[in-house]
Amino acid sequence: MKALIFDLDGTLVDTVYAHVLAFQLAFAESGIPIEAWRIHRHIGMSGDLLTQAVTRDSGLKASPQKLEAIEKCHGKLLHKLLPKPQPLPGAVQLLKDLRRKGILHGIATSGKPAEMKLALQDLHLSKDIVVINRKDAPLAKPEPDLFLECQKRLGVPPQECYAVGDAIWDLLAARRAGMLSLAVLTGGYSKDELIAAGAYRVFDNAEDLLGHLGELGLTPKQNARTS
Ligand SMILES: [Mg+2]
Repeated sequence: MKALIFDLDGTLVDTVYAHVLAFQLAFAESGIPIEAWRIHRHIGMSGDLLTQAVTRDSGLKASPQKLEAIEKCHGKLLHKLLPKPQPLPGAVQLLKDLRRKGILHGIATSGKPAEMKLALQDLHLSKDIVVINRKDAPLAKPEPDLFLECQKRLGVPPQECYAVGDAIWDLLAARRAGMLSLAVLTGGYSKDELIAAGAYRVFDNAEDLLGHLGELGLTPKQNARTS
């Protein structure tokens, strides 16, 4: 394998539950009461799909304009609730080690540019890292477009990439992109759910993944060129 493509929220940064609360408050401001767990089950897919799915699953109805307003309100509330998203355990070290070892990697997130910028700020990324967000592909997860765009920019075929995520939506998108997937528990999904959705391996968090990096058959970039 030649590359790792990471999801961002819940995989590298601890933002899932802040997203849940921001969406719940945004729905409430529009007069729509939604239980938090229903929102959590859809975190990781694009915001427009999430607002549609959550409203439908709750047996409620809202106009497309209202759903768009809820999504915008969520963005503002998230910024207030979590102005400084924290990296998850091991995330910074994992990215540092991948750079040191010359293993190709990128980030592909369903998040919008402003949310993404905030979440990336403490990950200490290299300036040239490939980061794909909602604006870079026509459709977000669970469509495979974001992972495929990242893979193209890394210059590695899909079958040589692992997609790494915390949500079943990442794993569905990875399958559809033709990539093996690795999962972490830091987004709140259970190991059983992640394996059922297609994860090849499930790790507690990025730190645990880093501890098992040697078992994943990853080839450094310079070696990959000559092989
Ligand atoms: Mg995620």
